[in-house]
Amino acid sequence: MTALVPSRYLLIGERPYRDADGGEAWFGYATRSAALIRLDRATAAALRSGDPDALAGLDPAEHRRLARLRALVGRGEDELAAVTGGLREGSARTSSRSVTIMPTSYCNMACSYCGQEHVKAAHDRVRADRTARRVEAMLADPGVDTVSVTWFGGEPLLALRVIRELSARFTAAAARHGKTYRARMATNGSLLTVRTLAELHRDCALDEMELTVDGPEEVHDRRRLRRNGRGSFHRTVTVLAETLARGAAPGLRIGIRVNIDRDNEDSVTDLLNDLACLGLAHPQVTLHLIAVHSWGNDVSEVELAARAYALREAGWLRTAEALGLHFAPLPAATVRTTCTATTRSGEIVDTEGRVYSCSEHPLVPGARDTGVVARVADLAGSARRPAGAFDDWYDQVGDGGAQCSRCPILPVCGGSCPKLWREGHLPCPSVKFNWAERLDLAVRRRGFTPFDADGGGAR
Ligand code: SF4
Ligand code: SF4
Repeated sequence: MTALVPSRYLLIGERPYRDADGGEAWFGYATRSAALIRLDRATAAALRSGDPDALAGLDPAEHRRLARLRALVGRGEDELAAVTGGLREGSARTSSRSVTIMPTSYCNMACSYCGQEHVKAAHDRVRADRTARRVEAMLADPGVDTVSVTWFGGEPLLALRVIRELSARFTAAAARHGKTYRARMATNGSLLTVRTLAELHRDCALDEMELTVDGPEEVHDRRRLRRNGRGSFHRTVTVLAETLARGAAPGLRIGIRVNIDRDNEDSVTDLLNDLACLGLAHPQVTLHLIAVHSWGNDVSEVELAARAYALREAGWLRTAEALGLHFAPLPAATVRTTCTATTRSGEIVDTEGRVYSCSEHPLVPGARDTGVVARVADLAGSARRPAGAFDDWYDQVGDGGAQCSRCPILPVCGGSCPKLWREGHLPCPSVKFNWAERLDLAVRRRGFTPFDADGGGAR
């Protein structure tokens, strides 16, 4: 039998817990399976030390369980190759296609940290029809079983009529061909009404929406000002709360993104309290705390250092947990592909019918022309887009030279953002730096309490 050794993708918690019966429990998080694993004291110590004798002394059933969860792997297994192989495989899948459509490139807001350039342009029916025909061709393709459309902008709700028209075509084509069609939207939320949300969910297959709230009212409205000078906090959160209270969009998952930098870091706790008071501690709502970083624009004045951010974030997450707000303490699934830019089954189409591989190219000054990989008019039927600048990402990681090649988080992160790496920024998600605090939250959520909390037990 091949000797088993601890995976390089296994993180071991640093403290013991008590279960409901008072028994001692330790925990590990295996990122190759995205599993939180209960361990006993001896197993945790053996996995941490990697001592072959200690590992050999473990119960055979425990060996098998840990191997199944990829916490233990065969000595000599090239785990980096296995992980990048899995990411390559996920990225090469053609049965699931995703298209990000920008129905408008204009935005009704002028957020202080936004790196996009917004332009007003008349809707072009011919180009929209070409984009619609491309999505319809994907739905008709016998090799495709799922098509996901993301409505993106600018602010997509400025083009609600276009979204309605195209959605009617997509849902009809999906029904005709017996395929799964789903839609999501990234919106600033300022134009939402309960009726619009219900309609988007019911008629346009919208099952996920992410909007941004950057602080309590006065902070949000200062940072995320509408071009007409009015704030948007009150309206946005009221619409969400009403939609949830009335059950107007029952299957819709709502992500609330909070962009955090030096300017608003001290108001995050107030915001969390406000969200809970407003009724947004709801199973349909997931909180996403995100550190502001550069999208090609200079945010160095306000950007928080990654470790300092992660430390504060751990505290915010504890507050969110106490308030009943929903969030994922640890990634619950491994990454199939890093992002649209790493799979030719994903693409972004702008209002001019240009096709991009990376979502940050269409509206970022200077990047627009370099990022075009094709035009919808030139792509035949459902043919996958040509390769873009970041489709070789797994070669770079697999070669072993990138920071991601040495990172234990890689299976649940995928490298975050190849574009930012290439531009010299650190795009690591906070979990890289605060996984131990997040693991602690996940364990407590399962009903375990710190072993030493009531004076019992030694470490
Ligand atoms: S982006 Fe950061 S956290 Fe993600 S795999 Fe790379 S080094 Fe790790
Ligand atoms: S490379 Fe970065 S910016 Fe581009 S699509 Fe991927 S995650 Fe987004």
